Amino acid sequence: MNVEAHKETLGFQTEVKQLLNLMIHSLYSNKEIFLRELISNASDAADRLRFEALTDDSLYEGDSELKIRVAYDKKARTITISDNGIGMSRTEVVDNIGTIAKSGTTQFLASLTGDQAKDAKLIGQFGVGFYSSFIVADKVSLTTRRAGLGPEHGVRWESDGQGEYTLETVEKPTRGTEVVLHLREGEDEFLDGHRLRHIVRKYSDHITLPIVMKAEDKDEDETVNRASALWARPKNEIKQEEYDEFYKHVAHDFEAPLAHAHNRVEGKHEYISLLYIPSRAPFDLWDRQSRHGIKLYVRRVFIMDDAEQLMPAYLRFVRGVVDSNDLPLNISREILQRSREIDAIRAASVKRILDLLDDLAEKDKEKYAKFWSEFGRALKEGVVEDHANRERVARLMRFSSTYTDNETQDVSFADYVSRMKQGQDKIYYVTADSFAAAKNSPHLEIFRKKGVEVLLMHDHIDEWVVTHLTEFEGKPLQSVTKGALDLGKLEDKEEKKRREKVTAEFKELVDKIKKTLGEQVKDVRITHRLTGSPACLVADEQDMGANLERLLKAAGQKVPTAKPILEVNPQHPIVARLKDEADDERFADWARILLDQALLSEGGELDDPADFVSRLNNLMLELMK
Ligand code: ADP
Ligand code: MG
Repeated sequence: MNVEAHKETLGFQTEVKQLLNLMIHSLYSNKEIFLRELISNASDAADRLRFEALTDDSLYEGDSELKIRVAYDKKARTITISDNGIGMSRTEVVDNIGTIAKSGTTQFLASLTGDQAKDAKLIGQFGVGFYSSFIVADKVSLTTRRAGLGPEHGVRWESDGQGEYTLETVEKPTRGTEVVLHLREGEDEFLDGHRLRHIVRKYSDHITLPIVMKAEDKDEDETVNRASALWARPKNEIKQEEYDEFYKHVAHDFEAPLAHAHNRVEGKHEYISLLYIPSRAPFDLWDRQSRHGIKLYVRRVFIMDDAEQLMPAYLRFVRGVVDSNDLPLNISREILQRSREIDAIRAASVKRILDLLDDLAEKDKEKYAKFWSEFGRALKEGVVEDHANRERVARLMRFSSTYTDNETQDVSFADYVSRMKQGQDKIYYVTADSFAAAKNSPHLEIFRKKGVEVLLMHDHIDEWVVTHLTEFEGKPLQSVTKGALDLGKLEDKEEKKRREKVTAEFKELVDKIKKTLGEQVKDVRITHRLTGSPACLVADEQDMGANLERLLKAAGQKVPTAKPILEVNPQHPIVARLKDEADDERFADWARILLDQALLSEGGELDDPADFVSRLNNLMLELMK
């Protein structure tokens, strides 16, 4: 008995229902793209068949002329898109068409704004191509049969896009997939051969298979598209729109890309690469396991998606194709990992992307700023991951800075260096877990006073960046919260003398605070970083730094807690007043409060907040007496 033969009705995953609704509404103004999406899927299905057939010729079932057919029926008010690609088994239909198996879907949906124009773009990058059928159809019927399964293993999926679909086993003599769209009331404009041809040429000209339609006047097939691999054509013959439409197909994106690099490489290794930088980060960019975007072809035959060997993880947002002339057609992922040729292609592709970014940064600041706000945090990983290109990646990085005090990251190391003061030999930075915390860090006081710029690093990744990048063009990077502040030539003789004098004057107080705080601090000393605040914490040069320590702890890692150094500001009235405090108990309260508030002001958390509050209250009561 064939248990699967029965017809069953299944419910869409909740997320699918929500997406369908949104999709229909937000993409309505550009509804003709349904055809592009269905053709794109048919083309992918043909690619997959060709690849599987490399090792199993019988999958062709005697028909190796792969093509896509578009037909319409005025009377029945239907449009049909069919292919003789790989097809789907029953399980594949359920997995691919009834569910969205991407992690983070729910969060993504929650992030939508309700603003149709904005959401349309977001939905596009989510990749919901097949569902775009429901923009114009109120019933969609998909009949498919997986290559290699017998004709009795056909499957029909049908839905009105309202929340349920039916699944039924049917006879399907030919392999591949046929999608029939029953047009909604009022969509008859698509029942027109000229219109359909126009749409095919506009969006799908680059599809490498022939897209055929019946000629309008005679009973004959004609190919509507150009049907040649876009990347193999000479650059100067390809229009911008063609590059853009091809991108949408390979990247499964609805929005045009930000930039592309198209190269034909000859010589030892021969290959073509066409690489794109998207306009928008996919919602799962932060998942380093997420899809990589390079498709590998060998002599025009599709080999695999997500060829992660072709792009390092920090460039996982790059989309496109690499078509090699030399690799064997039967190459597997395992072989890819050990292929010298692939290593060479990868190194060259990384270089192309970095060149492209250099070029954008130089010639189109606005586009580069957009790139940086979408992908900057991923690119920063390159400093950690890609030793060979560390300097180049560093040059592409942008940060917030006290120069602009702007949350937007728009200052490069080169900008910084060009503004360095006479006598300044270091690049100063502060790391914090938010822009506000970085910008308001008490450690910046002396720098602001002297007009010395400090980079405000507030991305989590920045902590790793500065552990791997210790200098830029020979200028060491220096945290303003670490070590003894050495302003070098930024400090004049007079200042130095004054500082030494004050240090001597306050020695007794400093020793007393240190004794009082005991194990809680590594050291206590007079600061010259502060102008307005009474105290701050600094980490020893070799210690981890408080921000990194907090990050690692938040990530659940065990880290040794390094004791901080407390620096107190002799110019501050509280500190000056403390010199005359005779009552030991009150002195201890003051010292503790100085320590605790220094921790708070850099975004830290107190071990015992109640203790802090009670000491503070004691002191306030004293004042009120
Ligand atoms: P995407 O193309 O971005 O994966 P779609 O919604 O367009 O998303 O398609 C969902 C999935 O359904 C595809 O990944 C594929 O597995 C399957 N599919 C869609 N159309 C076809 C087809 N014509 N032949 C085979 N599989 C298909
Ligand atoms: Mg698709």
